[in-house]
Amino acid sequence: MSSNNSGSPVPKRGKTIELTIEKFADKGMALARVDGFVVLVREGVPGDRVNARIYKKKKNYAEAEIEDVLEPSDLRTEPRCYYFSTCGGCRWQHVSYDAQLQAKKESVEGALIHQGGFDLEQVEVRPTIGAPDIYFYRNKMEFSFSAQRWLTPEEIATGKDFDTDFALGLHVPGNPFKVLDLHECHLQSEVSQRLVNGVRDFAKKHEWAPWHIRKHEGFLRHLVIRQAANTGDLMVNLVTNGYDEERMELLSGFLQREFPEVTTLVNTINTGVAQTAFGEAIHTIYGPGVIHDKIGSYRFQIASNAFFQTNTRQAERLYEVAKSFGNFQPDDLVYDLYCGAGTISIYIADAVKRVVGVELVEEAVANAKTNAELNGVDNCSFVSGDMKELFTADFVEQHGRPDVLLVDPPRGGMHPDVVKQIRALRPPRFVYVSCNPQTQARDLSMLSGAYTIEDVQPVDLFPHTQHIENVVSLTAQQ
Ligand code: SAH
Repeated sequence: MSSNNSGSPVPKRGKTIELTIEKFADKGMALARVDGFVVLVREGVPGDRVNARIYKKKKNYAEAEIEDVLEPSDLRTEPRCYYFSTCGGCRWQHVSYDAQLQAKKESVEGALIHQGGFDLEQVEVRPTIGAPDIYFYRNKMEFSFSAQRWLTPEEIATGKDFDTDFALGLHVPGNPFKVLDLHECHLQSEVSQRLVNGVRDFAKKHEWAPWHIRKHEGFLRHLVIRQAANTGDLMVNLVTNGYDEERMELLSGFLQREFPEVTTLVNTINTGVAQTAFGEAIHTIYGPGVIHDKIGSYRFQIASNAFFQTNTRQAERLYEVAKSFGNFQPDDLVYDLYCGAGTISIYIADAVKRVVGVELVEEAVANAKTNAELNGVDNCSFVSGDMKELFTADFVEQHGRPDVLLVDPPRGGMHPDVVKQIRALRPPRFVYVSCNPQTQARDLSMLSGAYTIEDVQPVDLFPHTQHIENVVSLTAQQ
């Protein structure tokens, strides 16, 4: 029999054991230990005492699923959604919102300690700013069609006969092949739920074939719904494998009759094998082909393929934090790096002299320029290019030495060359907005000795998930 360091038996696959959950781990799991041996428990909550069955056993850890909750943690709450346990959308619906916020703060602290090498005696993380709406908070949802419906254990347990040749919904965690047929989803809005069900019924009635993920055939690929939080705009974007004018006319008639809330219908064509809602062509079927939403008093145009923060109300709070952390002065030149459609640049423009935004995606730069114009903002300029190549001494020569650097890179963080350049340039103030505290802490560790961390503020844009946005303000050391 194998054993761990303390000599006691290591749990075996297939066995059920009693565990007390210590803390949250990654990906909806929680951590328990058996004499020091780590067992990751699916849907466990710190404080739970459970009987859990081991379904995976590796050298250094095992994974288990709960069979009985013997004593529930105080941090538990009732999940709202029927699909909660199987769907990949919300992994923390069973955790009270206060506990989610605390866990997110601790994950930022953990990243600063482990990836950043920082000492929490010197760096204090503020309590997470929670969202006022913990359901129906997303302005964008991307649902997938599939010719192979994945059933939940609850659906199987009903013993009913399901049509498994058609699904429209979200997939199970980490597996885009297993699409659930969702009849409810509490992430976007009531009208979004009705649209999913309405479009499904319509497509089935007309026998439009859903995409077969393995065979790469079928017509319907994704249904993307973008609904502005602060205007009445609502876009339906149907992603199909090819353009079919007659079908689009039919759908257009159906939506205009049954869903007058929809302000524009767009048809994206993706004939490739990649499971993505982006494609090689976009047809506007009716309406303007874009929507507008507001963050604070600013109005933004959002195209079907444009990046826009998915929680509008919390984006405003995030931008407010970034704005106050910048401690902006009327004479400041600010670089907004990884600027997307220029939303942060525009949001801070009235507080400073000039903003220079840099963004990889050319269309996003075009959107940024449109958005600046839309808001009568004339002190922002936007440059398209890869930060790694663009951000050189020549760039600084051309655009001026920044007083404040603001960055908001994607999940992978910044390229080491970019961090080196920041170190060399060393503007007096630096604000780092991140959707991944781990890569953020890694990047910040490369700046130690050059910058001091002043404030750390997590902001929750994604209730019921483990994602967190984190803003760090730093000042240059002399
Ligand atoms: N600040 C914006 C967008 C942040 S998302 C907002 O709040 O809406 C990160 C952005 O970085 C994306 O728009 C992405 O296209 C861009 N990006 C990714 N890699 C990049 C690179 N190497 N150089 C420049 N921009 C990049």
